[in-house]
Amino acid sequence: MYLCGKFNVSYSMKRTISILLLSVLTVVYAVPAFGWGQEGHRIVAQIAYDNLTRKARKQVDKLLGDHGLIYWANWGDEIKSDNIYPQSISDGWHFQDLDPGMSDSLVADALTHYPKEGGNLYRALDSLELEMAAERASTINAVHVLRFLTHLHADRYCPMHMAHKDDKGGNLVKMKWFGKDTNLHNVWDTRLIESQGYSYTEYAAMIQREYKYMRREIEQKTDEQLLVESYHLTQSIYQYQEIWNGNTYQYIYTWREPMEKQLYIASLRLAQVLNRLFK
Ligand SMILES: [Zn+2]
Repeated sequence: MYLCGKFNVSYSMKRTISILLLSVLTVVYAVPAFGWGQEGHRIVAQIAYDNLTRKARKQVDKLLGDHGLIYWANWGDEIKSDNIYPQSISDGWHFQDLDPGMSDSLVADALTHYPKEGGNLYRALDSLELEMAAERASTINAVHVLRFLTHLHADRYCPMHMAHKDDKGGNLVKMKWFGKDTNLHNVWDTRLIESQGYSYTEYAAMIQREYKYMRREIEQKTDEQLLVESYHLTQSIYQYQEIWNGNTYQYIYTWREPMEKQLYIASLRLAQVLNRLFK
């Protein structure tokens, strides 16, 4: 109702307005960090699933259901709104901040001498792997651990999940994507992948065909080597911001291939870990 030039707002209207305001504020201030985004996580899980040994696949299917590795790949992000695993948020399981200008040995060191601040992705993966090795039975815990392992292995090779702390992993680096406001983190989590317009199964098949020649090399590399290479990739992504002309197509042409290679690396690494755990 509008009376005598003043708003006379009913209780339910007030409530609706506060909910709306709250939602707007949440959208403005929330700093999302969803790893590869739904499609990316499914691509990684699909390729990993395709590369499991028969024995590993059988055991993984037993725990997560037929093809469950793929269907549950995003559970690690969805669970953020639940309080079953509050530590996955409070302890920063989904990312690991790495400062600019680190030496290769310092970066490699972060895998075992976990940095005290800025995410706990490496520590989380290590302890989940140990937990998985100890719990092979079909328990709820083993199911949860396996879902987390799948999800976090993908996050581990997502460039903006091992980025700089002062810009919240690229969340504070503003960008325009086809004229719309976004940020560097979001571009690498979802926009680049979605720009190709493939379904996750099409994309998984394409990546496996396109980058098959790298397979042996990736499988033979150590975690430290892969981490250092990923770190350098993240640094070049940051540096590119300074010379980029703002053209979205230009951005896609430059970074599509490195992004697809990261997805492939994450997938093969996940398959290797699962094949080892379920041999
Ligand atoms: Zn995540």
